[in-house]
Amino acid sequence: MAAVIRRATFTAALIGLLSSAAAAFVLSAHRWPQPSTTVYYGLLSDPYASAFASAAGEWTSRSVFQFNAQASAIGPCSASGPLGLGNGANFGTTTCDGTGFGDSDLAVTETVYDGNTGFLLAAAITFNTAQSWSVYDGPLQASIDFRRVALHELGHFLGLEHETNVPAIMNPDISDLDRLQDDDINGAAALYVPLGAATLVAPAETLVNTARPLYQWNAAPGSSWYRFYLHGTAGTVSDSWYSASNLGCGAGSGTCSLDPGFNLQDGIYSWWIMSWNYVKAGPWSTRSDFTVAAAVVGPGATTLSAPTGTATTPRPTFTWSAVAGSTWYQLWLASPSGAISQTWYRASDAGCASGTGMCQITPSRDLSNGSWSFAVETWSPAGSGSWSAPQVFVVSTPLLTPPATTLIAPLGLITTTSPTFQWNAIATSTWYQLYLSPPSGGPVATWYRASDVGCASGTGACSVNLPSPLSSGSYRFWVQTWNSNGAGPWSAPGNFNVP
Ligand SMILES: [Zn+2]
Repeated sequence: MAAVIRRATFTAALIGLLSSAAAAFVLSAHRWPQPSTTVYYGLLSDPYASAFASAAGEWTSRSVFQFNAQASAIGPCSASGPLGLGNGANFGTTTCDGTGFGDSDLAVTETVYDGNTGFLLAAAITFNTAQSWSVYDGPLQASIDFRRVALHELGHFLGLEHETNVPAIMNPDISDLDRLQDDDINGAAALYVPLGAATLVAPAETLVNTARPLYQWNAAPGSSWYRFYLHGTAGTVSDSWYSASNLGCGAGSGTCSLDPGFNLQDGIYSWWIMSWNYVKAGPWSTRSDFTVAAAVVGPGATTLSAPTGTATTPRPTFTWSAVAGSTWYQLWLASPSGAISQTWYRASDAGCASGTGMCQITPSRDLSNGSWSFAVETWSPAGSGSWSAPQVFVVSTPLLTPPATTLIAPLGLITTTSPTFQWNAIATSTWYQLYLSPPSGGPVATWYRASDVGCASGTGACSVNLPSPLSSGSYRFWVQTWNSNGAGPWSAPGNFNVP
């Protein structure tokens, strides 16, 4: 066992505390193997004995570290202890290693640790007899408050080093502070609270369209650094350490975000995060996989022009800038209800086969009132190109009833008693009423859904056969359109004769 001794001196030099929060508690990298230890103070007499017990009790009650303070008559130094340290506290003129005090030295804590494991084996606190001591709270007086010095030395005893950047009992110079500060308590936690594992958030089990994804994970409590390990099909891509404060999760909570600053080739990747603080390496997170599909082999992105803002026609013209080399364009369109349609257009059909100027298409169906969004992707024989940025527009047209249809058949002299009734579909008509006036008897009116007469697409012909043959004679019929805004006009009449 290689044992190593360290010493830390608390001085009376009075300097102001710095207020910067750039750094926090400093850990010695040596700690007890468990979050507790015994300290002896029975050689002290009151008021110092009770002040020492009170200081040990403050660490025990306010931090995760437990001091088992014993009033046994054991001092700081012990011939039989590791390197002569006895785990006690007392006044003295020299420390256990025989060194005397400097004029401004108040106390010294010596520790001995196992050079192999780094764990502390023993410690000792010696208060400088030559100082003028008393016990009090509040601002420093001419004499030295023993209790706050004991509090500081016990911080060394459990493994903390000096802290100069934020208010702390562990500041190397005594001050008006007479109780443990948040930084002191956090330091003890960093030494003794087991580190948790980070939980990966993104990218996780997904496909990303960017070559430079942002890596995000939930902070592991107590972790001040993180090891980022990224593996691709060709091996390790990155194995780097990042400070939690640079990832936006320095407080040990919230989400850590990392932009490692490099692009990835398309492919499959796995990544892990290890938590870490100054004394402990935490567990690795579970693995997350993702696929990068970011390479663009086709043409670049187009820029959308119209529609934008509010369109007052149900068939607004879609306009975007032509991209050289793009022979097809895909229009992605999301309706107010979220329904998505994707339609490919030849550049020549959009009037932009030259690759310059603007491409234009007009939808073949009316767009309902509401908020729509669209985007356009380019394409060339080399492959898919880029998507444009999406654009939102609002369709706001008066609520219109459908226009009249025109009749196709039967008209004139026919040769069957079971003719097929046909008329031209109207894009905005969802129902049709067939009104048939026979040579004798009353007229017959029947409503048909567009989908039941084969013209739900709003284009082509609507067709229906009546359930029974017609008797001989002259007939006249009309068809009326309808949608949710109301009935449209009747068609012009059609006349036919059944043999
Ligand atoms: Zn110190």
